[in-house]
Amino acid sequence: MTTVTNKTDNTGDVRLSGISKTYDNGFTAVHPLDLTVPQGSFFALLGASGCGKTTTLRMIAGLEEPSSGTVHLGEQNVTALPPYKRPVNTVFQSYALFPHLDIFENVAFGLRRRGIKSVKKQVEDMLDLVQLGEQARKKPHQLSGGQQQRVAVARALINHPKVLLLDEPLGALDLKLRRQMQLELKRIQTEVGITFVHVTHDQEEAMTMADTVAVMNAGRVEQLGSPADLYENPRTTFVANFLGTSNFIEAEVDTKNGDDIVLKAGGGKLVLPEARCSAPTATGGKVLVGVRPEKISLTHADDAGDIPEGRNRITGRIADSSFIGVSTQYVVDSPVCPEFEVYAQNIDRDARLVPGTEVVLHWNPAHTFGLDAAQDIDAGIQEEAAV
Ligand code: ATP
Repeated sequence: MTTVTNKTDNTGDVRLSGISKTYDNGFTAVHPLDLTVPQGSFFALLGASGCGKTTTLRMIAGLEEPSSGTVHLGEQNVTALPPYKRPVNTVFQSYALFPHLDIFENVAFGLRRRGIKSVKKQVEDMLDLVQLGEQARKKPHQLSGGQQQRVAVARALINHPKVLLLDEPLGALDLKLRRQMQLELKRIQTEVGITFVHVTHDQEEAMTMADTVAVMNAGRVEQLGSPADLYENPRTTFVANFLGTSNFIEAEVDTKNGDDIVLKAGGGKLVLPEARCSAPTATGGKVLVGVRPEKISLTHADDAGDIPEGRNRITGRIADSSFIGVSTQYVVDSPVCPEFEVYAQNIDRDARLVPGTEVVLHWNPAHTFGLDAAQDIDAGIQEEAAV
């Protein structure tokens, strides 16, 4: 069961227990899923198109009936409740504002529908929260996409939901506006302190905003954790590749040395802290050794003697290099990995490091992670069988 703890108040918890969705055509979009999102967190469901993110969100909202399992909001089992009886509101990619109403009336809509007469103070507070106090009398078409999305957020928040669901809310915005709105939404969430569940396929967006991210793949949560934890300690190749770039080396467990595992890879040895290995660590076990491109240093083969003791090292030849300002990106062919990627910050660049040069790649063993190669193969087979 995947659970995030550390909570003081649980009225805004979202708890999914064994929830699944199989559509009428027999396709299972979400396999039985246990997930707890604690009150007040900014939670992201991240995954490629079609992995079941929106279906999961819609089951929380009550817009999709689960095939099995239950949805709890706080202590309340809401599985059988229609959407309007759940303490949640949803913000969609299409802002769905009323074009004939001005911004003030769009935000006031939920209150008026509930028969509340004096809406002025609440609407003004909400417009201030989303920094649109000056735009109250404009119509939606007179605002930018980002401003319209903020109106949609204000219109949802004025109902004081326990949970705000955001379904790719920034999908229609251009890149610059997206980046601005990511920070803006994070600020709003911190200010109102309610639970936000955000669906996105954009890993940078999820990592910028969310304190906890669930990476979904083919209707399952592959891994859940803080952005830094997922990036530094991925447990599957899918997660490792979805959140940035990774290099992989096929290796075999040789011995243990204290808290470390010593692995054989292409005639050489690599060291991996046992705590960072999600594969079985018995001698002879197969491990996929991963390392991020920015963790690796490149040294000209002639200077190999200068590399400090205790670093993992492999040899190779530079196949390609691209200068991209803040860093230079190298592709290195190595006997243990055909296209090793290395990102080197442009400080004291060694002008000898051009394509064709023999180099040693080396890194701190603490920056290495180990994956269970067999498990990834199993997952691939399951996925193929599901198609
Ligand atoms: P996207 O980012 O493209 O919206 P998603 O991860 O949110 O993707 P879902 O919308 O949850 O994915 O869809 C998951 C899978 O379920 C997809 O393969 C989709 O085609 C399928 N699906 C969604 N709705 C239905 C439906 N009503 N009937 C049958 N299959 C459906």
